[in-house]
Amino acid sequence: MDTPALPPETPVTETEPNLDPQNWDELRANAHVMLDDMLDYIAQIRQRPVWQPIPDEIRAHFRAALPQQPTELAEVYAQFAEEVLPYAAGNVHPGFMGWVQGGGTAVGMLAEMLAGGLNANLGGRDHMPVEVERQIVEWSRTLLGFPEGATGLFVTGSSLANLIGILVARTRALGKGVRAKGLGEAGATLRAYASVAAHRCIPLGMDLSGLGTDALRPIPTDAHGRMDLSKLRAAIAEDRAAGLKPFLIVGTAGTVDTGAIDELETIAAICAAEDMHFHIDGAFGAMAVLSPELKPLVKGIELADSVAFDFHKWGQVPYDAGFVLVRNGQLHRDTFASPAAYLRPNAKGLAAGAPWFSDFGPDLSRGFRALKTWFTLKTFGITKMGEVVAHSCALARHLEARVRAEPQLELLTPAQLNIVCFRYGNDDATNAKIVVDLHESGIAAPSTTTIAGKLAIRAAFVNHRTKFRDVDAMVDAVLKLGASS
Ligand SMILES: *Cc1c(COP(=O)(O)O)cnc(C)c1O
Repeated sequence: MDTPALPPETPVTETEPNLDPQNWDELRANAHVMLDDMLDYIAQIRQRPVWQPIPDEIRAHFRAALPQQPTELAEVYAQFAEEVLPYAAGNVHPGFMGWVQGGGTAVGMLAEMLAGGLNANLGGRDHMPVEVERQIVEWSRTLLGFPEGATGLFVTGSSLANLIGILVARTRALGKGVRAKGLGEAGATLRAYASVAAHRCIPLGMDLSGLGTDALRPIPTDAHGRMDLSKLRAAIAEDRAAGLKPFLIVGTAGTVDTGAIDELETIAAICAAEDMHFHIDGAFGAMAVLSPELKPLVKGIELADSVAFDFHKWGQVPYDAGFVLVRNGQLHRDTFASPAAYLRPNAKGLAAGAPWFSDFGPDLSRGFRALKTWFTLKTFGITKMGEVVAHSCALARHLEARVRAEPQLELLTPAQLNIVCFRYGNDDATNAKIVVDLHESGIAAPSTTTIAGKLAIRAAFVNHRTKFRDVDAMVDAVLKLGASS
C-alpha cells in the first residue's frame, strides 16, 4: 500500500486560535521553576507543618469571578504557590497518620506529568498506553494469584472498584438480562453479606446497583474485628429458609477502623459450597501481598471472584489509582460491554485493539493512571515496596508498645496490620480536642473513630516517609496536650 506523505510543516498563523504558548522558551523557563519547586516541596516536606488551617483571607481571596481574559502563567503559578500549596491536606508529610492515605512519590509525580503531556485516553483503541494498563492487569493478576483470563482495570478508587464487584456478582446471579430488564422479582430476593466493619462504600454499592442497602445483611464481628463466620452461616441459612437468594459475600482484607482481615479462605469455601460470588474489599490490605512477611495474612485472596484495591494507598501511587480484578473475564465484560456504532472496534488501524477497557467499567474516557503505577512498580520494584508496607506495620507495633507503656493512654485496638486505636484518659470530648489540637499544631495528623462506644484516636500508617521518631513525636504531643486539657 502507498502511504500518502505527511503534509509539510507550515508556520502557525497568528489568526487561528489555539492554546499553545506563543513563546515556548518562556513556558519552558516557567516549567522548570514549577518542577524544581515541587521537587523541593517533597524533599523538604519535614520543614513544614503536616497541615495548617486555611486563613479566612486566603479562602476569600481565592474565590474569584470566572476569568474572561488571560493571566500570565507565572502569575497563576504564584497564586498556586501562595494560596493552594501551603494549605494541602498533608498526606505527603510523614506526620500524616489519619484515615488511610498514601504519601505519593516524586517518581509518581513525574509520570503524571508525562501522562498529561500525552493526554492519553484509555477508553480503547490501539495505542501503547492501553498496553501499559494491560501490563498492570497482568502484574496485578500475578501479585494476587489470579488465573489467566482474569480481567481488571483502573478506576478512581476502591469505592468504585467495590461497586464493580457488586455489579459483576449481580450479573452472575441474574444473567446479563438484568441490564435490560432491571432487577425484577428474582432481583428482589437477592441477599449480600458483609461484616459490620465493612467500608461504607459496600452499602453504597448495594444502593447504586439497585439492589438496595436492605439487601445487605451486616454480620457482627468477633473479638478481632473479623466477620463472625458462625453468624454468617446462620444468616445465610435463615435467608434460604425464608425463600431468599444469598448471592454475594464481601470479605474485607484490612478494615478501615482496625485493619482486621476476614478469614478469606473459609469465606471462599462458604461461597463455593453455597454457589455465591466472593468479592474482597482489599482497598489497602490487598497490598500486603507485596511483603513476603505479611502475605500469609491475606491468604485466600487468590480464591476471590473479584478484588477491589488501591494503588494510591499502600502502593504510594499519586491519587487516584483504584483497581478492580475479576476472575471471570467474560462475566466482567457481560456486566459492562455496550456496543455503539461510533465505538466499533476494527481489525486494523487505530480503532483496533479490542477488547477495550471501556467494555469493563462505566467510564468511556479514561485517563492514564496506568503510567504512574507502571513507573512506581518498575522504579522501586516489588521488594522495596513490600519493605515499605512491612515498615508501616512495624510503626503500628511501635505505637502499640508506647501506648501500653504510658499509664495515661488506653489501648483500644492493638496493632493489626498498620492501624492502632487508643485514647488519652477516659472521656470522648478530651480526645476529640486532643486530635483537633494536634492537627492545628502541625506535628501529626491522626484521625478519630469510635471503638466499642469510645471515641478513639486512630493512627493508620501508610505513608512511606513515616519513621519511628514521627510516631514518638505524635505520642509525646498527645501526652502533652492531654496533660494540659
Ligand atoms: C479507603 C477504603 C475504601 C475506599 O477507597 P477509595 O479509594 O477511597 O474510594 C474502601 N474500603 C476500605 C477498607 C478502605 O480503606
